[in-house]
Amino acid sequence: MDKLYNLYGSQGREMALEILEEVPLELSSNMKVGIKPNLALAKESQSGATTDPELVAGVIEYLQAQGIEDIIIIESSWVGDKTKRAFKVCGYEDLANQYGVRLYDLKDDSFQTYVSGDLEIKVCQKPLEVDYLINMPVLKAHCQTKITCALKNLKGCIPDSEKRRFHTLDLHKPIAHLNQILRSDLIVVDGIIGDLTFEEGGNPVRMNRVLVGKDSVLIDAFVAQLLGFDIDEIPYIKIAEELGLGSTDSTSAEIKYLNNSKDLIQEENKLVDTDINARKVERLAQYIVEKEACSACYGSLIHALQRIDDKYGLPKDTQVYIGQGWQEESISGIGIGRCTGQAKDHISGCPPEAKRIVDKLIEIWGLD
Ligand code: SF4
Repeated sequence: MDKLYNLYGSQGREMALEILEEVPLELSSNMKVGIKPNLALAKESQSGATTDPELVAGVIEYLQAQGIEDIIIIESSWVGDKTKRAFKVCGYEDLANQYGVRLYDLKDDSFQTYVSGDLEIKVCQKPLEVDYLINMPVLKAHCQTKITCALKNLKGCIPDSEKRRFHTLDLHKPIAHLNQILRSDLIVVDGIIGDLTFEEGGNPVRMNRVLVGKDSVLIDAFVAQLLGFDIDEIPYIKIAEELGLGSTDSTSAEIKYLNNSKDLIQEENKLVDTDINARKVERLAQYIVEKEACSACYGSLIHALQRIDDKYGLPKDTQVYIGQGWQEESISGIGIGRCTGQAKDHISGCPPEAKRIVDKLIEIWGLD
C-alpha cells in the first residue's frame, strides 16, 4: 500500500519544498520531467479552478535542486478555452520566465491512438515522452463526475476531439482507461483552494492542504471523502482500481500528516473571514457558528453541507458549531471537530473529513 503525505498551510512554494523532502522519489538529473497542472480554463487559482503557480514554483525549485534541467509544463485547457491564455492569466508565463522552464500547449501536440481494454484512446505525445510525469490537480468538486482530481486531470493530455468523445462515453470509463495508458509518477494535489461544486471555480473553498502520493486511485479515493462523497459515487475510481491502477482502500493506507491544521490558526482565521465571498458558500455559512476555525475544518464542513443540501436539502433553523474558540464552552447543538467536544452532539476529528460529517449529520438530522 502506498503512502499519502498531507501538509497543512497556505504558502504553495514553501509547502511543495517541505513536503517533497519527505517523499522518496526515483529521480535522476538527466531526466525529462513533465508537470501537468490543472489549467482547464483561464482563471486564477484563487477562484478555486486552477493549480496555484506558487505550488508549481516549489516543485520546480525542488527538481532544479536535484540537478534536473529539462522541465516542461504541459496542459491543454478544456474545449472552448485557449491554453496559452490560461498560461498567461494563471501566472504560468511569469513562472516559466522566472525558472527557465518550458510551457507546452498540448492543443498543438501530435497524438497517437492507444488501446486499453476495449477502448481506443487518442493521447498527446508530449506527456508520453517525458521520463517522469508530475500530476498537479486541484482538490475540487465537479458537476458531472462529483470530484475532479488526479485521475481526471489527465484528460488535459488528450486532443479536444477526444475530450468531446469522452463526454459521449459518460466520462468514467475512458478516464480510468486513459490512466492505464498514461501513468502519473507523482501526484501533488493543490488543496489550498478548491471549488465547492464546479470545475470552473467561482465558489472557492479554502482547505489549506497539499497532498502528495504516487497512487492516483488512492489519492482520488481519499479526496472523495475529503469532499464528502462515497467512493461508489465516482465510478471511475473503482474502474481504475479494477484495472490494477491502484487501491481505493484509503482507510488502511498510511497517511503521514506532517503538521497540524491548528498550528496555522492565526493566519487561517484571517483567511476564513475573507474567503466567504461566493454566493453558494455564503449561503452555507449561515448554518455555521464559527469561532477561530481552521480552514481545513471549515472547508470540510462547507463541503459536507453542500453534499447534504444536494441530496436532501438542509433543515431550516439549524446551526452547527465549529472552531477552537469553542474549546472551553458547552454547546447545546451540534459541534464539528475535536474543539467542540463539549457539544451535545459532537463529530470528532481534527479536522474531520467531510464524508464523516455528512454521515453523522444525516443521522442526527434523521434525513435518511
Ligand atoms: S478540530 Fe478543527 S478547528 Fe479544532 S484544531 Fe482541529 S482542525 Fe482546528
